Amino acid sequence: MPNPTHYQNLFPGLDTPTPLLNRQPQPYVNLDNAASTPPMKAVLEAIDRFIPYYSSVHRGTGFKSQVSTRAYEIARERTLQFLHADAGEHTCIFGKNTTEAINKLARRFPFQPGRDVVLTSGLEHHSNDLPWRAAAHTVHIRLTPEGRIDLADYEAQLDAYAGRVALVSIAGASNVTGFITPIHQMAEMAHVAGAQILADCAQLAPHRAIEMLPRQDAAHLDYVTLSAHKMYAPFGTGALVGLRETFEQGEPDMRGGGTVEIVTLDDVVWAEPPEREEAGSPNTVGAVALAAAIRQLQEVGMENVARHEAELTAYALSRLPEVPGISIYGDRRPENAARRVGVIPFGLRGNSHFKVSSILGCEFGIGVRSGCFCAHPYILHLLGLSQAESHQVREQILAGDRADMPGLIRASFGLYNTTGDVDRLVEALLCIARGDYAGEYIQDRSTGEYHPSGWEPDFDQFLTL
Ligand code: PMP
Repeated sequence: MPNPTHYQNLFPGLDTPTPLLNRQPQPYVNLDNAASTPPMKAVLEAIDRFIPYYSSVHRGTGFKSQVSTRAYEIARERTLQFLHADAGEHTCIFGKNTTEAINKLARRFPFQPGRDVVLTSGLEHHSNDLPWRAAAHTVHIRLTPEGRIDLADYEAQLDAYAGRVALVSIAGASNVTGFITPIHQMAEMAHVAGAQILADCAQLAPHRAIEMLPRQDAAHLDYVTLSAHKMYAPFGTGALVGLRETFEQGEPDMRGGGTVEIVTLDDVVWAEPPEREEAGSPNTVGAVALAAAIRQLQEVGMENVARHEAELTAYALSRLPEVPGISIYGDRRPENAARRVGVIPFGLRGNSHFKVSSILGCEFGIGVRSGCFCAHPYILHLLGLSQAESHQVREQILAGDRADMPGLIRASFGLYNTTGDVDRLVEALLCIARGDYAGEYIQDRSTGEYHPSGWEPDFDQFLTL
């Protein structure tokens, strides 16, 4: 098994010193990988190799156009293969990200208006919730108090809406608690009920091998979405891989160049998928980046990725309780680390999440995220807020005051993180818990965020464009 130093060597820029309030600059510890990830060296190298040949794709006859078209189509094949999809049965549609991919399926799925139901859950990212609300009657499967999908409620909803559930759409892993959902078991139940299933794999794809499985297998996944920027290829590509037949019917959700076979002044013949679904010039560089990231991840081995991250998560879960006043949400048990992805949400008693994350960044060079992580219903559930309390939060936000906005702090691991990074986080939190920090932090009530009074990095010293 490769050692963690080997993983670090796969990434540029990890040693870059970042400015700190009242301390010497230190290398940044990025613990915000669930939001987005830095590019792997292999991705940058692939882009470098590709750029001299960059040209228009599809129907260009020049050599560079042919190289570019080939690269774009190889990226599709690589993505299908990464998900163990079947190139005959499935199509790979490239777009901007997971959000765009889910919105596309929501617009393209052949829902029967007034009848069809989508089952999603209370732990979803807004991107796997709001698009469904606009497309069909959407029902949220309840959660257990710990924040897992309540499978008994799932079964009850499938029964309650028997014959009407057209699609189940569930995150493969949560961006808040890191819980891995039983997507294959849920797929089996969906298929028995006559529904199809989408797995939103934005969080799962960087950390685990994914098997769409053949269609004869009741546990198969009908659609999978992912974002390259969460897989060490942040160049603006995402994928919707799913049943080709769904996109062979109906009209594309976006019309334009590339989507057609022939156009006359009074008629249009649409192209086959995936072209029908990719209006306009595609992001070829992004697709090349994704293909390179997949190759690098596969070279490392997804089982090694999972093992390394489980070790980090177990180590973090064993050390974080040293911090006085910390509350870890979701599953706190280090021995369960291999059954989740490396995302740990927590709070620090007596300290606003906004303030803690600001101090971590300004004084300790640690990048985390705080707030609700685009999963408001899930955070309110984890925090155990009553309906009345949630309503009060809503009223405050409508009044432009986010000072008391509920939320958590989230540390999320990538392949290049080390136990040393966890140590830096724990040491920093110990300092914050005992009030041992230099800045005077002032809150902006309209955003809820805190900033240290009188200090700001000299950004121009680091990057000007
Ligand atoms: N689903 C989940 C589970 C996510 O974590 C995210 C991103 N945080 C998304 C969907 C949306 O991904 P993107 O921002 O790349 O569209």
